[in-house]
Amino acid sequence: MTIAQTITAPATTRTLRVGVIGTGMIGRDHTRRLAQVLAGATVTGLYDYSAEAAAAVQADLAPSATVFATGEELIASPEVDAVLVTSPGFTHEAYVLEAIAAGKPCFCEKPLATTAEGARRIVEAETAHGTRLVQVGFMRRYDVGYRMLKEVVDSRIGQPLMVHAAHRNPSVPEQYVTPMAIHDTLIHEIDVFRWLLDDDYVSAQVIFPRATSASHAALKDPQIILLETAKGIRIDVEVFVNCKYGYDIQCQVVGEEGLANLPEPMSITMRKDASLQNPILTDWKDRFVASYDVELQDWIAAALAGTASGPSAWDGYAAAVTSDACVEAQEADGIVKIDLPARPALYA
Ligand code: NAP
Repeated sequence: MTIAQTITAPATTRTLRVGVIGTGMIGRDHTRRLAQVLAGATVTGLYDYSAEAAAAVQADLAPSATVFATGEELIASPEVDAVLVTSPGFTHEAYVLEAIAAGKPCFCEKPLATTAEGARRIVEAETAHGTRLVQVGFMRRYDVGYRMLKEVVDSRIGQPLMVHAAHRNPSVPEQYVTPMAIHDTLIHEIDVFRWLLDDDYVSAQVIFPRATSASHAALKDPQIILLETAKGIRIDVEVFVNCKYGYDIQCQVVGEEGLANLPEPMSITMRKDASLQNPILTDWKDRFVASYDVELQDWIAAALAGTASGPSAWDGYAAAVTSDACVEAQEADGIVKIDLPARPALYA
């Protein structure tokens, strides 16, 4: 297997001037990547609803950047070639539409929009523009383990028939409630399995096993989400966000001629206290940290060419339609159909 998780500098000497909207947790981290880790970009603009948050990121990471009074001014500025949207999900649609109207490449953290209709409006605006400008922050497609798994699924195990997966967190904040298991947690599986299997979903069902005593009335935990694809592949995903023991992402693809497992993150094996031990990660940020670097380097290269690559606005829309169906299935007693309209040629 030759796939490596490396970042490759863009084949140009030009520098992409990036404006960052939303300088909270992930906006600060992506600004650090652009300013200190990756090649070919510089941060020239910052905006956050909290002027103090933007000023703090400017002072720590991008002293020559302008702090703008609004996101719209940042997008319109001649100092900004491309826009990175890392504000809360409910603000994404308006900023992405504004970037498309300005003809500027835009990286939008997930979700693309908080409703399927909102994501659809972005697809329509980008389709009318005529070339891709939008990349959505589904970083698992850039994870070396998923890339190795995809190569095996595409070439070694015959036609995929089933996927067994799990997404477990040790615990979640008190305000995390039942639908968030879909919107905040399963959303990554929803996207990565469409890419891994090169397929779309046709139905969803959610079942609830015995609830853990570590949860509360507003959060049914764990949940099992059953997805069916157009090719007839059956996917079961356990979402268990109070599992206690660690942050654990599992994925097994069963094919006609073999099965393939997502590799475990690299860790030291110890023999100690009469037992064989492997540490398990506890923080999701550590699990995919390298893939954020690779995804943003990919975005910089495409944006320097005036376009976008990786997960598209269509992928963001398909994820929104599917997650809406899964939330409906949490309430419904049975199977919920998923109907995606025909994919526009721009996303072929
Ligand atoms: P966060 O820490 O709350 O940061 C968001 C920042 O945006 C805050 O400083 C917030 O200010 C500011 N803000 C609020 N309204 C705004 C507006 N209208 N315009 C500009 N800025 C505004 O949130 P986060 O954890 O960084 O998450 C941001 C986005 O990234 C979310 O969509 C999240 O789902 C996504 N995310 C993706 C991943 C991934 O794995 N791909 C991981 C983490 C986050 P106030 O605090 O004053 O409201």
